[in-house]
Amino acid sequence: MTTVNSATPADSVPAARSSGALVEVHDLRKNYQLGETEVHALRGVTLSIHPGDFVAIMGASGSGKSTFMNILGCLDKPTSGRYLLEGTDVSSLTKKELARIRNQKIGFVFQGFNLLGRTTALENTELPMLYSKTNNKDRERRAREALDHVGLSDRADHFPSQLSGGQQQRVAIARALVNLPRILLADEPTGNLDSRTSVEVIEIFQRLNASGLTIILVTHEPDIAQFAKREIVFRDGQIRRDDVVEVPRVASEVLKTMPTIEG
Ligand code: ADP
Ligand code: MG
Repeated sequence: MTTVNSATPADSVPAARSSGALVEVHDLRKNYQLGETEVHALRGVTLSIHPGDFVAIMGASGSGKSTFMNILGCLDKPTSGRYLLEGTDVSSLTKKELARIRNQKIGFVFQGFNLLGRTTALENTELPMLYSKTNNKDRERRAREALDHVGLSDRADHFPSQLSGGQQQRVAIARALVNLPRILLADEPTGNLDSRTSVEVIEIFQRLNASGLTIILVTHEPDIAQFAKREIVFRDGQIRRDDVVEVPRVASEVLKTMPTIEG
């Protein structure tokens, strides 16, 4: 990974970087209007996440995890509260600036992989670069590098239907990495995977985290959360717990004890 994104206007905004936090949210609230009723999906969330952290977010269904991730990922805006991303107040940005930040600073991985079906692994991985000025040759080279990073060099020309669930998720991770994001946001990335494949995906996350990437992972599986460095529990749109994981599990070690089904 050698390419460096050029500075954007948003990057050059003088900002309050005093805390050194990558993500800083203050009293974040999100209400959805559902007909006559208002749903309070987030009810005052305050936290900071520092570069190099690996955070697992747990909590019952409906507790606001995805709402929180969508706001962190600049896919959605809070009803009120502040969100600073690398010191930049995201709420002051235009739609266009938000889209650029999302494209350059944030990588997403979802439970359902979200790959384009009629498009090869390589082309899926190239997608985020279509919005930047990367030329065709560089685009292909970087996409191949990203696929190599997730161990899929030999599957570049396969379509999603020709790949296993774990392989599809690895393509999605390659796609999320290809613009060298500052944060990887993963919303239940192992929710559709069997247990060994889940740990294989987490092994990739731990490797990326060890090389400096900040990761925020939503999971409902306590076993999976134990691979992170920090565990946050949401309940009814608020943070109920925020703890350091004293001794995170090591995916590469755990894999040695798990039976292989098939490569
Ligand atoms: P989680 O990811 O923890 O399951 P969500 O963030 O998806 O929780 O949802 C939190 C609450 O907000 C739930 O009550 C959910 O029904 C509601 N909600 C989420 N998205 C919307 C939406 N687009 N419109 C209305 N209500 C929503
Ligand atoms: Mg969710």
